[in-house]
Amino acid sequence: MRALVYEGAWQMPLREVPTPEPNAGELLVKVEAVGVCGSDVHGYKGTTGRRKPPIIMGHEFSGTVASVGAAVENFKVGDRVVVTPLLTCGYCDNCRTGFPNQCQNRSGLGVNLNGAYAEYVKVAEKMVFPLPAEMSWEQGALVEPLAVAMHAVNLTPMQLLDTVVILGAGTIGLLTILAARLKGAGKIIVTDTSAHRLAFARQLGADVVINPNEQDAVEAVKAQTNGKGAPAVIEAVGITATAKQSLMMARNGGNVVWIGNSDPEVTINMQQIVTRELTVRGAYGFNDEFRLSIEAIRARRIDPTVLIEKRARLDEGTQIVDDLARGKAEWIKVVLTP
Ligand SMILES: [Zn+2]
Ligand SMILES: [Zn+2]
Repeated sequence: MRALVYEGAWQMPLREVPTPEPNAGELLVKVEAVGVCGSDVHGYKGTTGRRKPPIIMGHEFSGTVASVGAAVENFKVGDRVVVTPLLTCGYCDNCRTGFPNQCQNRSGLGVNLNGAYAEYVKVAEKMVFPLPAEMSWEQGALVEPLAVAMHAVNLTPMQLLDTVVILGAGTIGLLTILAARLKGAGKIIVTDTSAHRLAFARQLGADVVINPNEQDAVEAVKAQTNGKGAPAVIEAVGITATAKQSLMMARNGGNVVWIGNSDPEVTINMQQIVTRELTVRGAYGFNDEFRLSIEAIRARRIDPTVLIEKRARLDEGTQIVDDLARGKAEWIKVVLTP
Protein backbone atom coordinates (compact mmCIF):
# COMPACT_ATOMS: atom_id res chain seq x y z
CA MET A 1 0.00 0.00 0.00
CA ARG A 2 1.01 3.63 -0.29
CA ALA A 3 1.74 5.62 2.87
CA LEU A 4 3.39 8.84 3.94
CA VAL A 5 6.26 7.64 6.10
CA TYR A 6 7.81 10.06 8.59
CA GLU A 7 11.50 9.15 8.34
CA GLY A 8 13.06 12.04 10.26
CA ALA A 9 12.79 15.81 10.71
CA TRP A 10 11.35 17.44 7.55
CA GLN A 11 11.17 14.06 5.76
CA MET A 12 7.87 12.35 5.02
CA PRO A 13 7.94 10.84 1.51
CA LEU A 14 5.23 8.72 -0.10
CA ARG A 15 6.42 5.11 0.12
CA GLU A 16 5.22 1.69 -0.94
CA VAL A 17 5.02 -0.35 2.30
CA PRO A 18 3.51 -3.76 3.16
CA THR A 19 -0.22 -3.63 3.87
CA PRO A 20 -0.69 -4.56 7.55
CA GLU A 21 -2.42 -7.84 8.41
CA PRO A 22 -4.99 -7.74 11.22
CA ASN A 23 -4.34 -10.09 14.14
CA ALA A 24 -7.06 -11.56 16.32
CA GLY A 25 -9.28 -8.76 17.64
CA GLU A 26 -8.06 -6.32 15.00
CA LEU A 27 -9.51 -4.84 11.81
CA LEU A 28 -7.94 -3.47 8.67
CA VAL A 29 -9.58 -0.17 7.74
CA LYS A 30 -9.36 1.38 4.28
CA VAL A 31 -8.85 5.09 4.96
CA GLU A 32 -11.48 7.26 3.21
CA ALA A 33 -10.64 10.65 4.80
CA VAL A 34 -7.89 11.72 7.19
CA GLY A 35 -7.39 15.14 8.76
CA VAL A 36 -3.99 16.82 9.00
CA CYS A 37 -3.49 17.79 12.64
CA GLY A 38 -1.31 20.61 13.94
CA SER A 39 0.45 18.07 16.15
CA ASP A 40 1.49 16.15 13.01
CA VAL A 41 2.89 19.35 11.53
CA HIS A 42 4.85 19.93 14.76
CA GLY A 43 5.95 16.30 14.73
CA TYR A 44 7.16 16.64 11.13
CA LYS A 45 9.60 19.35 12.25
CA GLY A 46 11.12 16.81 14.63
CA THR A 47 11.08 19.18 17.60
CA THR A 48 8.50 17.54 19.88
CA GLY A 49 10.14 14.11 20.06
CA ARG A 50 6.88 12.23 20.61
CA ARG A 51 6.86 10.73 17.11
CA LYS A 52 9.87 8.43 16.62
CA PRO A 53 10.71 7.67 12.96
CA PRO A 54 9.89 5.65 11.01
CA ILE A 55 6.18 6.12 11.72
CA ILE A 56 3.06 6.72 9.65
CA MET A 57 1.25 9.70 11.24
CA GLY A 58 -2.45 10.57 10.93
CA HIS A 59 -4.96 10.05 13.73
CA GLU A 60 -8.17 11.79 12.61
CA PHE A 61 -9.88 9.49 10.15
CA SER A 62 -12.85 7.54 8.88
CA GLY A 63 -12.90 4.53 6.59
CA THR A 64 -14.34 1.24 5.43
CA VAL A 65 -13.61 -2.11 7.07
CA ALA A 66 -11.44 -3.99 4.54
CA SER A 67 -10.80 -7.18 6.51
CA VAL A 68 -11.30 -8.51 10.02
CA GLY A 69 -9.08 -10.71 12.17
CA ALA A 70 -10.30 -13.68 14.17
CA ALA A 71 -12.56 -12.95 17.14
CA VAL A 72 -13.80 -9.59 15.82
CA GLU A 73 -17.42 -9.57 16.89
CA ASN A 74 -19.08 -6.30 16.06
CA PHE A 75 -17.85 -5.32 12.59
CA LYS A 76 -17.75 -6.88 9.12
CA VAL A 77 -16.12 -6.10 5.79
CA GLY A 78 -17.72 -3.05 4.17
CA ASP A 79 -18.87 -1.33 7.40
CA ARG A 80 -18.35 2.44 7.54
CA VAL A 81 -16.38 3.30 10.67
CA VAL A 82 -14.62 6.05 12.61
CA VAL A 83 -11.69 5.18 14.86
CA THR A 84 -10.44 6.71 18.10
CA PRO A 85 -6.64 6.92 17.94
CA LEU A 86 -6.27 6.17 21.67
CA LEU A 87 -5.46 2.53 22.38
CA THR A 88 -6.05 1.98 26.08
CA CYS A 89 -5.51 -1.13 28.19
CA GLY A 90 -8.89 -1.22 29.92
CA TYR A 91 -7.55 -2.60 33.18
CA CYS A 92 -5.30 0.04 34.80
CA ASP A 93 -6.70 2.17 37.63
CA ASN A 94 -7.36 5.12 35.32
CA CYS A 95 -9.16 3.01 32.70
CA ARG A 96 -11.24 1.34 35.41
CA THR A 97 -12.26 4.59 37.05
CA GLY A 98 -13.45 6.22 33.84
CA PHE A 99 -10.36 8.15 32.76
CA PRO A 100 -9.04 6.12 29.82
CA ASN A 101 -7.37 9.27 28.42
CA GLN A 102 -5.01 8.90 31.40
CA CYS A 103 -4.41 5.17 30.80
CA GLN A 104 -1.02 4.16 32.17
CA ASN A 105 -0.43 1.83 29.22
CA ARG A 106 -1.85 3.96 26.43
CA SER A 107 -0.53 4.20 22.92
CA GLY A 108 -1.64 6.40 20.09
CA LEU A 109 -2.32 5.72 16.45
CA GLY A 110 -0.16 8.01 14.33
CA VAL A 111 2.09 8.73 17.34
CA ASN A 112 3.68 5.41 18.30
CA LEU A 113 1.46 3.08 16.23
CA ASN A 114 1.23 3.44 12.46
CA GLY A 115 -1.62 5.80 11.59
CA ALA A 116 -3.84 6.85 8.72
CA TYR A 117 -1.66 8.80 6.25
CA ALA A 118 -1.93 5.57 4.29
CA GLU A 119 -4.33 3.54 2.22
CA TYR A 120 -4.93 1.11 5.09
CA VAL A 121 -4.51 1.12 8.85
CA LYS A 122 -4.67 -1.72 11.36
CA VAL A 123 -6.69 -1.03 14.52
CA ALA A 124 -8.00 -2.88 17.57
CA GLU A 125 -11.74 -3.55 17.55
CA LYS A 126 -12.23 -1.61 20.79
CA MET A 127 -11.05 1.57 19.01
CA VAL A 128 -13.73 1.34 16.31
CA PHE A 129 -17.13 3.08 16.26
CA PRO A 130 -19.80 2.74 13.55
CA LEU A 131 -20.00 5.85 11.34
CA PRO A 132 -23.72 6.72 11.17
CA ALA A 133 -25.19 6.55 7.67
CA GLU A 134 -26.11 10.25 7.73
CA MET A 135 -22.47 11.28 8.32
CA SER A 136 -19.92 11.91 5.54
CA TRP A 137 -16.34 10.62 5.49
CA GLU A 138 -15.15 14.16 6.16
CA GLN A 139 -17.43 14.50 9.16
CA GLY A 140 -15.99 11.22 10.41
CA ALA A 141 -12.46 12.59 10.05
CA LEU A 142 -13.37 15.56 12.24
CA VAL A 143 -14.86 13.54 15.11
CA GLU A 144 -11.48 13.36 16.91
CA PRO A 145 -10.60 17.08 17.03
CA LEU A 146 -14.20 17.92 17.98
CA ALA A 147 -13.95 15.37 20.82
CA VAL A 148 -10.84 17.20 22.12
CA ALA A 149 -12.73 20.51 22.14
CA MET A 150 -15.80 18.93 23.76
CA HIS A 151 -13.62 17.38 26.48
CA ALA A 152 -12.10 20.78 27.35
CA VAL A 153 -15.55 22.38 27.47
CA ASN A 154 -16.88 19.49 29.58
CA LEU A 155 -14.09 20.17 32.09
CA THR A 156 -14.86 23.92 32.19
CA PRO A 157 -17.36 24.85 34.92
CA MET A 158 -19.84 27.13 33.21
CA GLN A 159 -23.25 28.59 34.01
CA LEU A 160 -25.84 29.32 31.35
CA LEU A 161 -24.89 32.47 29.39
CA ASP A 162 -21.49 32.85 31.09
CA THR A 163 -18.90 34.81 29.14
CA VAL A 164 -16.20 32.49 27.80
CA VAL A 165 -12.79 33.56 26.52
CA ILE A 166 -10.99 31.26 24.08
CA LEU A 167 -7.31 31.99 23.38
CA GLY A 168 -6.28 30.65 19.99
CA ALA A 169 -8.41 30.09 16.89
CA GLY A 170 -6.70 27.07 15.38
CA THR A 171 -8.75 23.93 14.78
CA ILE A 172 -9.23 23.16 18.48
CA GLY A 173 -9.91 26.75 19.51
CA LEU A 174 -12.49 27.12 16.74
CA LEU A 175 -14.20 23.83 17.59
CA THR A 176 -14.23 24.99 21.23
CA ILE A 177 -16.43 27.91 20.14
CA LEU A 178 -18.99 25.44 18.80
CA ALA A 179 -18.79 23.19 21.88
CA ALA A 180 -19.06 26.14 24.30
CA ARG A 181 -22.10 27.40 22.42
CA LEU A 182 -23.67 23.94 22.73
CA LYS A 183 -23.07 24.10 26.51
CA GLY A 184 -24.92 27.40 26.79
CA ALA A 185 -22.15 29.99 26.73
CA GLY A 186 -23.16 33.64 26.54
CA LYS A 187 -20.67 36.07 25.07
CA ILE A 188 -17.77 34.23 23.42
CA ILE A 189 -14.54 36.21 23.06
CA VAL A 190 -11.75 34.77 20.89
CA THR A 191 -8.15 35.95 20.59
CA ASP A 192 -5.63 35.11 17.87
CA THR A 193 -2.82 36.88 16.02
CA SER A 194 -4.12 35.79 12.58
CA ALA A 195 -6.80 37.86 10.87
CA HIS A 196 -7.66 34.81 8.79
CA ARG A 197 -8.36 32.65 11.84
CA LEU A 198 -10.26 35.46 13.58
CA ALA A 199 -12.53 35.81 10.54
CA PHE A 200 -13.27 32.10 10.89
CA ALA A 201 -13.99 32.57 14.61
CA ARG A 202 -16.56 35.25 13.76
CA GLN A 203 -18.15 33.00 11.17
CA LEU A 204 -18.47 30.23 13.77
CA GLY A 205 -20.26 32.48 16.22
CA ALA A 206 -17.64 34.35 18.27
CA ASP A 207 -19.23 37.59 19.51
CA VAL A 208 -15.96 39.47 19.98
CA VAL A 209 -12.59 38.79 18.33
CA ILE A 210 -9.33 40.30 19.56
CA ASN A 211 -5.97 40.45 17.81
CA PRO A 212 -3.26 40.90 20.48
CA ASN A 213 -0.99 42.41 17.84
CA GLU A 214 -3.44 45.28 17.48
CA GLN A 215 -4.68 45.84 21.03
CA ASP A 216 -4.00 44.77 24.61
CA ALA A 217 -5.92 41.50 24.76
CA VAL A 218 -6.27 41.50 28.56
CA GLU A 219 -7.60 45.08 28.63
CA ALA A 220 -9.98 44.25 25.79
CA VAL A 221 -11.41 41.29 27.73
CA LYS A 222 -11.74 43.45 30.86
CA ALA A 223 -13.61 46.06 28.80
CA GLN A 224 -16.01 43.34 27.64
CA THR A 225 -16.67 42.09 31.20
CA ASN A 226 -17.28 45.28 33.22
CA GLY A 227 -13.65 45.31 34.28
CA LYS A 228 -13.95 41.98 36.10
CA GLY A 229 -12.63 39.36 33.71
CA ALA A 230 -14.45 36.26 32.49
CA PRO A 231 -15.74 33.35 34.61
CA ALA A 232 -14.36 30.82 32.12
CA VAL A 233 -11.17 31.02 30.07
CA ILE A 234 -9.91 28.29 27.73
CA GLU A 235 -6.31 28.42 26.51
CA ALA A 236 -5.76 26.65 23.16
CA VAL A 237 -2.28 27.84 22.17
CA GLY A 238 0.18 26.64 24.80
CA ILE A 239 2.87 29.32 24.99
CA THR A 240 3.94 31.72 27.76
CA ALA A 241 2.20 34.79 26.33
CA THR A 242 -1.25 33.19 26.17
CA ALA A 243 -0.81 31.19 29.39
CA LYS A 244 -0.14 34.51 31.19
CA GLN A 245 -3.07 36.20 29.48
CA SER A 246 -5.40 33.33 30.37
CA LEU A 247 -4.86 34.01 34.09
CA MET A 248 -5.23 37.78 33.77
CA MET A 249 -8.41 37.44 31.69
CA ALA A 250 -10.18 35.35 34.35
CA ARG A 251 -12.29 37.03 37.00
CA ASN A 252 -11.51 36.42 40.68
CA GLY A 253 -12.45 32.84 41.52
CA GLY A 254 -12.71 32.02 37.81
CA ASN A 255 -11.83 28.84 35.97
CA VAL A 256 -8.98 28.55 33.47
CA VAL A 257 -8.62 25.41 31.36
CA TRP A 258 -5.47 24.76 29.35
CA ILE A 259 -5.62 22.60 26.21
CA GLY A 260 -2.71 24.29 24.41
CA ASN A 261 0.29 21.99 24.31
CA SER A 262 3.21 23.62 22.50
CA ASP A 263 5.91 24.86 24.87
CA PRO A 264 6.82 22.29 27.52
CA GLU A 265 7.61 25.11 29.98
CA VAL A 266 5.91 28.46 30.39
CA THR A 267 6.40 31.27 32.91
CA ILE A 268 3.33 32.48 34.81
CA ASN A 269 2.61 34.76 37.73
CA MET A 270 1.70 32.31 40.50
CA GLN A 271 0.27 35.10 42.67
CA GLN A 272 -2.48 35.55 40.07
CA ILE A 273 -3.65 32.05 40.90
CA VAL A 274 -3.17 32.25 44.68
CA THR A 275 -4.48 35.67 45.57
CA ARG A 276 -7.37 35.65 43.12
CA GLU A 277 -8.24 32.02 43.85
CA LEU A 278 -8.21 30.89 40.25
CA THR A 279 -8.72 27.26 39.35
CA VAL A 280 -6.35 26.19 36.57
CA ARG A 281 -6.55 22.75 35.06
CA GLY A 282 -5.35 20.87 32.03
CA ALA A 283 -7.47 19.04 29.46
CA TYR A 284 -5.97 16.29 27.32
CA GLY A 285 -7.57 14.12 24.69
CA PHE A 286 -11.05 12.90 25.52
CA ASN A 287 -13.00 10.13 27.19
CA ASP A 288 -16.67 9.60 26.41
CA GLU A 289 -16.56 12.78 24.32
CA PHE A 290 -15.56 10.71 21.26
CA ARG A 291 -19.00 9.11 21.31
CA LEU A 292 -20.64 12.48 22.09
CA SER A 293 -18.76 14.08 19.19
CA ILE A 294 -20.20 11.49 16.77
CA GLU A 295 -23.66 12.16 18.21
CA ALA A 296 -23.29 15.97 18.01
CA ILE A 297 -22.39 15.73 14.32
CA ARG A 298 -24.97 13.05 13.50
CA ALA A 299 -27.77 15.08 15.11
CA ARG A 300 -26.57 18.19 13.20
CA ARG A 301 -25.88 20.16 16.37
CA ILE A 302 -22.33 20.85 15.17
CA ASP A 303 -20.83 20.56 11.69
CA PRO A 304 -17.03 20.69 12.04
CA THR A 305 -16.48 20.32 8.28
CA VAL A 306 -16.88 24.11 7.95
CA LEU A 307 -13.22 24.21 9.04
CA ILE A 308 -12.00 22.29 5.98
CA GLU A 309 -10.17 24.72 3.72
CA LYS A 310 -8.29 22.23 1.57
CA ARG A 311 -9.01 18.78 0.20
CA ALA A 312 -6.21 16.80 -1.43
CA ARG A 313 -4.96 13.32 -2.33
CA LEU A 314 -2.63 11.34 -0.08
CA ASP A 315 0.32 11.86 -2.44
CA GLU A 316 -0.09 15.63 -2.05
CA GLY A 317 0.23 15.29 1.72
CA THR A 318 4.01 15.60 1.86
CA GLN A 319 3.97 19.02 0.22
CA ILE A 320 0.96 20.18 2.24
CA VAL A 321 2.50 19.28 5.61
CA ASP A 322 5.76 20.91 4.50
CA ASP A 323 3.94 24.12 3.47
CA LEU A 324 2.10 24.21 6.82
CA ALA A 325 5.34 23.59 8.75
CA ARG A 326 7.12 26.41 6.92
CA GLY A 327 4.21 28.77 7.41
CA LYS A 328 3.70 29.03 3.64
CA ALA A 329 0.04 28.04 3.98
CA GLU A 330 -2.58 28.83 6.59
CA TRP A 331 -5.36 26.33 5.94
CA ILE A 332 -7.34 25.70 9.13
CA LYS A 333 -8.06 22.06 8.31
CA VAL A 334 -6.77 19.92 5.47
CA VAL A 335 -8.38 16.55 4.70
CA LEU A 336 -6.56 13.94 2.61
CA THR A 337 -8.39 11.24 0.71
CA PRO A 338 -6.17 8.26 -0.13
ZN1 LIG B 1 -5.12 15.83 16.29
ZN1 LIG C 1 -5.40 1.67 31.05
